[in-house]
Amino acid sequence: MNTVPKAADMAAYVFTPPTQATLSIAGTSELFPVHRVYCVGRNYAAHAVEMGHDPDKEPPFFFQKNPDNLISDAKEFPYPKASSDVHHEIELLVALKSGGEDISVEDALNHVYGYAVSLDMTRRDLQGQMKKMGRPWEIGKSFEMSGPSGPIVPASKIGHPDQGAIWLKINDELRQSGDLNQMIWKTAEMISILSTLFTLQPGDIIMTGTPAGVGPVERGDRMHGYVEGVGDLHLTVT
Ligand code: MN
Repeated sequence: MNTVPKAADMAAYVFTPPTQATLSIAGTSELFPVHRVYCVGRNYAAHAVEMGHDPDKEPPFFFQKNPDNLISDAKEFPYPKASSDVHHEIELLVALKSGGEDISVEDALNHVYGYAVSLDMTRRDLQGQMKKMGRPWEIGKSFEMSGPSGPIVPASKIGHPDQGAIWLKINDELRQSGDLNQMIWKTAEMISILSTLFTLQPGDIIMTGTPAGVGPVERGDRMHGYVEGVGDLHLTVT
């Protein structure tokens, strides 16, 4: 038996460690602990076209948000600093209960805990500047409150949604509209590809891309997101 204490047991932290980032789970008071947040770019053909790209020629690419950028059950989205062009991107969020490396497409969905409606809020002006300079997107994508999300609905209750409406209304006007079956890279394929690049872990999140119709929000706007079979998400921009 190993009686040597682990380093973490012996050393005090120099300050209180940050709180574990979590998402709520529908129908229970239990929390889902968030590890990493992977986001896929241009995963709906019509959105790739509206952003000026050819959807047929590109393999999937990924960027990350920070775990604490995801906020569960917020009623308000505070307009972020340093931008005057903040865009909405409605997305299906996938939450993993287990991980691994080199996960096969066939096995991939066995790693999914559940799904949520989420928004990949984007400082489009800053992202655009970074794109132009060939620099990373973090300042456009990974700011405070940039990933408001509804509660995770367990796959044990709803299965694995791969078709059905996904839309976003602003002040009751439809802005984004698509179908989950328009995703270029499917949930199982994204899990499999990510697992060739990273060691996936329980608590990892994948935000699966947005359909066409992205655009700016203004203070006072009421955002209403919806994913068929998963639920609704309501936020006011403040
Ligand atoms: Mn996105």
